[in-house]
Amino acid sequence: MNIRSLDVVIVDLPTIRPHKLAMHTIVMQTIILVRVTGEDGLEGWGEVATIGGASYCAETPEAIKMNIEKYIKPLVIGRNAAHFDAISYTVNNHVVGNTFAKAAVEAAVIELAAKTRGVSVHELFGGQIHDSLPVAWTLASGETRRDIEEAKESLHAKRHNIFKLKIGMGDPKRNVDHVLKIKEAVGDTASIRVDVNQAWDETTAMYCIEALEDGGIDLIEQPLPAWNKEGMSRLASRFKVPIMADESLGSLEEVYQVAKHRSGNVFSLKPANVSGLTATKKVAAIAEAAGISLYGGTMIESALGTAICAHLYSTIPEMKYGTELFGPLLFTDTITTNAIVYEEFQLKVPNGPGYGMEIDVEKIFHYGRDL
Ligand SMILES: [Mg+2]
Repeated sequence: MNIRSLDVVIVDLPTIRPHKLAMHTIVMQTIILVRVTGEDGLEGWGEVATIGGASYCAETPEAIKMNIEKYIKPLVIGRNAAHFDAISYTVNNHVVGNTFAKAAVEAAVIELAAKTRGVSVHELFGGQIHDSLPVAWTLASGETRRDIEEAKESLHAKRHNIFKLKIGMGDPKRNVDHVLKIKEAVGDTASIRVDVNQAWDETTAMYCIEALEDGGIDLIEQPLPAWNKEGMSRLASRFKVPIMADESLGSLEEVYQVAKHRSGNVFSLKPANVSGLTATKKVAAIAEAAGISLYGGTMIESALGTAICAHLYSTIPEMKYGTELFGPLLFTDTITTNAIVYEEFQLKVPNGPGYGMEIDVEKIFHYGRDL
């Protein structure tokens, strides 16, 4: 099916509570939607989410939209969506970086390819191995008592038994105490993990990880800045608690270097970080070959973006640390007419055609910018 048109829209979705990260507090999450339309009117939709404008990465929502429209769209129009990998090759040859923009376009092209054949996207990636995926929740209210309440409610409802705490902002020692109080409150009923989002230096990391390891914390995500891969290697060999690389996996080449030097012993998959689903499958292959465990990361996408990630993750043999595809649960509203189903601590991978999500155009007009 040849691609006739491509549109991009920026959408701002309100969250159920402030979501505090090291670099930004989210009260309104920005997602970028791409729609490609085939010659017979069939549509494919793609999505990427960003955090805090320019505070998480160099690609802002406005730059993503503009770069897609000006530089990527002309490379995609007229191409056969079934050749999505070949299209990504062309785009990579003409556009440097811009991994978020590329990921949004590729996701839309892949959905059009799947819908043309009347199949789910996971079928284009070799078939589903898992029909559901474990889902972590991020406790990021910033208040210990509220986080403990949130964790206990979630355990009771059998929604999540893996909790991640964002501890990159503020005093490291106080943050470690906050995490250990939560671990004490939930005991062995849940896995408690932390994400530092690059906020520590190496000596701070050594002090804090020792305390977290002693307190039974299960995973330490990106304690050091993305550039400090040597420091990450030292931490990974010093501690028993696994160290996860996230922001330091900014391209396939970086993924290889991080694997080679063991600058982390778990990888967080994120399609937006590496230009899309086809590259994410390659990240999983590098990790598999290097004996590195996997985790399905999120940029906090809406139901569509969550389904996009879930389809790909469902084709990966082992996701030892589960996923954090909780995005839709953090928003007060949705841009799809059907919802992602969460039950028994898992996300049910929606079935197709495509990603299996129906876009609610009225909601896009309501939350979209400049429409
Ligand atoms: Mg992270």
